Amino acid sequence: MSTHKSVEPHGCIVCGRIHDLLIVRSDDGRLVDCSVTSPGGRQVTDPERILVACDRHSSEEIERAIARHYPGRAAPDKPDED
Ligand SMILES: [Zn+2]
Repeated sequence: MSTHKSVEPHGCIVCGRIHDLLIVRSDDGRLVDCSVTSPGGRQVTDPERILVACDRHSSEEIERAIARHYPGRAAPDKPDED
């Protein structure tokens, strides 16, 4: 199976700064691998989408930013409303 590599710019989830990501996809378009190629950035592990953030942001900052950008995700510290 062959793969396709491409570089895509993604904005930091916290401050919007653009980081370059090397994206590797399989023939059928599935994401195989990705890594941040620009200095000062890192990938944020998220099962649903590709996210990046600057190295200087704490994981708490990043979690808050994700919750703000994608409301409706289950927040771990929110009590269950039933
Ligand atoms: Zn940032």
